[in-house]
Amino acid sequence: MLMQEEREQIVEIGKLMSSSGLCPGTSGNQSIYNPQLGLMAIKPSGITYDETKPEDVVIMDLESHIVDGNRKPSSEWDLHTVFYKNKPNCHAVVHTHSAFCTTFACLGMPIQAVHYVLADANTHEIPCAPYHTFGTAEMAEEAIKCCGDGDAVLLANHGIVVCGKTLKGAFGLAKNLEYIAGLQYRAMCIGKPNILSKEEIGRVIESFSHYGQPASGKTGY
Ligand code: 13P
Ligand code: ZN
Repeated sequence: MLMQEEREQIVEIGKLMSSSGLCPGTSGNQSIYNPQLGLMAIKPSGITYDETKPEDVVIMDLESHIVDGNRKPSSEWDLHTVFYKNKPNCHAVVHTHSAFCTTFACLGMPIQAVHYVLADANTHEIPCAPYHTFGTAEMAEEAIKCCGDGDAVLLANHGIVVCGKTLKGAFGLAKNLEYIAGLQYRAMCIGKPNILSKEEIGRVIESFSHYGQPASGKTGY
């Protein structure tokens, strides 16, 4: 089977996406891009995370062809593909319907720098792309356009999509942004949150670039 290692990672992180509560039911999806092969391994559509096995993962090229696998790929393969085509450092994509991020997406409101950990997304604000039906090329195009140089974008009335160098990193960012959206929601319930400046977030991005143990490759929490 092509991309066995990536298939196993998709299954492993998928179980965490589900058990963390970020992806109720079969909502959300995840993929890994292998730049040497020019191929992406993506979750199958509509199979629960607990039931997904490595052989269910679908291997596709970036021109929408299935290269290996018997399952129908995630309906959001276009959304994943646009990230790999437009962001050369992006090797993994995670999409969730997590509750707090999706609450802001339902309001068309960005996630702001109410907490410095937002810098994990390499930007000072997570914008919201306009609504389009799930699984459409229009939704994918708007998402990448709106995302800009950051690593995440909200999808109006739908959820959030994030990218990273590794699948573990992208999932970590999805969890961090859900945490921050939860803080922003709570802060807005009782007052007007103080938002950190773009300059301060720039300093945190720099600090995150050497956070943790040397050579750990860790770039944020
Ligand atoms: P898939 O099961 O096809 O990946 O769809 C889930 C989803 O979140 C669609 O946006
Ligand atoms: Zn979705």
